[in-house]
Amino acid sequence: MTHKNFKNIDKVTYGRGSFSQLTETIEPIRKENKNYFVFVVDNYFKGKPLSTKLQNKPEDLVYFIDVDPYEPTTQQIDTLRDEILPKKGLPSGVIGIGGGSIMDIAKALSLMLTNEGSSTLYQGLNLIKKPGIYHLGVPTISGTGAEVSMTAVLTGPEKKLGLKCDWTVFNQVILDPELIASVPTDWWFYTGMDTYIHCIESHGGIRNNAFSLAYGDQALNLCREVYLNDKAGQTPENDDKLMVASLMGGLSLTYSEVGVCHAISYGLSKIHGTRHCYANCIIFQHLGDIYPEGHAEFMQMIKKHKINLPQNLSKDWNEETLTKMANVSYNLPFMWNHALGDNYKEIATMDYIKDLFRRL
Ligand code: NAD
Ligand code: ZN
Repeated sequence: MTHKNFKNIDKVTYGRGSFSQLTETIEPIRKENKNYFVFVVDNYFKGKPLSTKLQNKPEDLVYFIDVDPYEPTTQQIDTLRDEILPKKGLPSGVIGIGGGSIMDIAKALSLMLTNEGSSTLYQGLNLIKKPGIYHLGVPTISGTGAEVSMTAVLTGPEKKLGLKCDWTVFNQVILDPELIASVPTDWWFYTGMDTYIHCIESHGGIRNNAFSLAYGDQALNLCREVYLNDKAGQTPENDDKLMVASLMGGLSLTYSEVGVCHAISYGLSKIHGTRHCYANCIIFQHLGDIYPEGHAEFMQMIKKHKINLPQNLSKDWNEETLTKMANVSYNLPFMWNHALGDNYKEIATMDYIKDLFRRL
């Protein structure tokens, strides 16, 4: 077994109001390349107070990007790169202000500004040839762990797969819990549950270890405080905790692996376009036999926050659709191996996986 060897974020700022330190944080970097920054900002913030506090300079380029209903695409990144480079040359850095979608756009753009050709050429592990430019992430919704991960997930014409390498990891992350206050309750729940499921799956398999368990336990406790205990709910104190949980959950899965819910989730998302965190919630409600304790707690949280998840989706899926989804999930052997053990190939057959989809 090879031991994982991951690159972490170079620097992290944490605390209420810390976003206001952006100017000084990037000042030294402004000396690099053509001395300007590209800001990619979730379109949600256009016209909102945050849009007047971006601290951009006149020479900077600011793009407000709509992330609904589609997740980032390879074409979107290529188009952005091909517009920026002829206009102003290589920027000093890229700043992503938003959720997983925007952070992945910032990560991918920083790589594609220095790597030629379409981003479709680099979907996969260690295919990127040159380091990207400085990139900084500012999460405004917490849960996916995209702020800490080494992947920038892109949907291309053929695959939904990340640009995955050490250079993908942010040089700097600013965690300012004030920025997640405006997240609508349903998204607050789905994205937070992504963290919760990361930890349950990271723990529930053969690849867990003291390192992944330590981060995962801490993140699970924070999730319980945010979603389950007496003081649960969308409060400033809980936002402080959720931002940390998201990062620690990401580190837990990085040093272990995700499991059955994520394997099924990729199939559902790829074929039906279901958003990652929402898809995980739709699936996890049916995995009581596989993750009994995590499932019981998840159902309590669903009840406490009166979340309604769709039921009986599979009644509209014919054999062909089921096969397509199951194929995507089947081709994630690391997840099945982690979740089901070394004889996973005997268990996670196409029929077994189709049956999991039939539960939805
Ligand atoms: P998102 O970025 O897709 O945003 C979800 C919704 O929340 C959007 O409508 C957005 O406009 C809104 N929003 C964001 N911040 C807000 C705020 N402060 N107030 C109000 N609304 C706000 O959400 P996400 O779930 O964080 O990201 C999903 C994406 O992340 C997918 O594209 C998925 O593929 C990707 N992903 C990446 C990784 C990774 O490791 N890189 C891991 C999991 C998922
Ligand atoms: Zn996830």
